[in-house]
Amino acid sequence: MKIKVNTPLVELDGDEMTRIIWQMIKDNLIYPFLDVDLKYFDLHVSNRDKTHDSVTIDSALAIREFGVGVKCATITPDTERVKEYSLTKAWPSPNGTIRTILDGTVFRKPITISNIPPAVRSWKKPILIGRHAYGDIYKCSELVVPEAGKVELVYTTESGKEVRKLVHEFDSPGMVMGYHNSSASIKHFANSCITLAISEKIDIWFSAKDTISKIYHGTFRKIFEEQVQLRQKEIDKAGVTYKYFLIDDAVAQLMKHEGGMMLALMNYDGDVLSDLVASGFGSLGLMTSVLVSPDNKYEYEAAHGTVKRHYYQHLKGEVTSTNSIASIFAWSGALYKRGELDNTEEVCKFAEHLEASVIKTVEQGYMTKDLVSITTHSNPKTLNTEEFVKKVAELL
Ligand code: NAP
Ligand code: MG
Repeated sequence: MKIKVNTPLVELDGDEMTRIIWQMIKDNLIYPFLDVDLKYFDLHVSNRDKTHDSVTIDSALAIREFGVGVKCATITPDTERVKEYSLTKAWPSPNGTIRTILDGTVFRKPITISNIPPAVRSWKKPILIGRHAYGDIYKCSELVVPEAGKVELVYTTESGKEVRKLVHEFDSPGMVMGYHNSSASIKHFANSCITLAISEKIDIWFSAKDTISKIYHGTFRKIFEEQVQLRQKEIDKAGVTYKYFLIDDAVAQLMKHEGGMMLALMNYDGDVLSDLVASGFGSLGLMTSVLVSPDNKYEYEAAHGTVKRHYYQHLKGEVTSTNSIASIFAWSGALYKRGELDNTEEVCKFAEHLEASVIKTVEQGYMTKDLVSITTHSNPKTLNTEEFVKKVAELL
């Protein structure tokens, strides 16, 4: 008998190699075991084009409605992709659109396996990244400055008062960018980080560059620290500490620390450092990601992209060995959360078994190419993309 998942799970399909892995995961690890109503949204780049991107917006609204979603990696089109897929335009990043609709914070956590040692020798425990997923350069307005001229920031209040500030007097061509954030979003971000740090009992390192940006970064820090103070009792009770580092100091400290903390980061820093931390722990294929909205809606995904290079090999008929672990953990993470919200213990148990089967498969020496080159296992066997998923299914 299959395990029943009581509430529909929102599924967002994606592109390239991860789309192929996605289908393998469903066929081998989900459908045979679960009776689940998947609300399916096809975010394939051609379908986003066909629907004028309304499919992306609808998928985010469905996550809002049902509470939990699981997403495959997707192409963010640039001019090359517009040509490759004959798109009508370079649609915005689906993740950007979804994050803007759900607001919230992206948490990234590496999957640690006993025979896959981190590249950074001092790292002993997982390092979590809490990335503020709203605003800054991801929601900016930018201009090419083609010739000499003056650029100003202009703020018009609701009552019509104008405040101006010079950005730069150009005496030759250049470019300019304006971006924003909101106090409410930063408050939510701080609270999501504090809540997760308390539940995982790990310290919070918040970083910015407030020595240089006294207003933008300075206000960000002030709001974050106000939220910490408001919840100081809870934080102390959990034995968690809050520390502020300048971002460059945080990066330097990170390399000599044993891990086991959460880096709470502004949007761009979180984007960049999560890839660094993922590679440092072994492979991009071992980093999970969850978007948590302030009203407790969850979207799970792998942190990596669509693995384009492997997909082109696949299209040429070559055998690929792409790591599906982070994508499998997106499913297990979403299912665990669904079970928790529905109070269905068997669904949570299934999610735990799925993760344990993945870890055990690698510990027994069966893994994809990216892990074979870094494992401490004495006699690892390289499996192709499909063989790995099937090996996990066997154990499961
Ligand atoms: P990528 O998919 O993250 O892959 C970059 C490289 O990292 C791969 O070529 C591969 O290296 C390695 N890698 C990543 N994931 C792997 C896995 N699961 N197993 C084994 N190796 C893995 O980045 P990309 O190829 O530069 O980007 C492709 C597309 O993904 C872009 O169109 C981008 O817009 C999109 N993207 C989407 C998301 C998302 O939806 N969340 C995030 C980032 C990027 P080797 O080739 O050396 O084996
Ligand atoms: Mg990124």
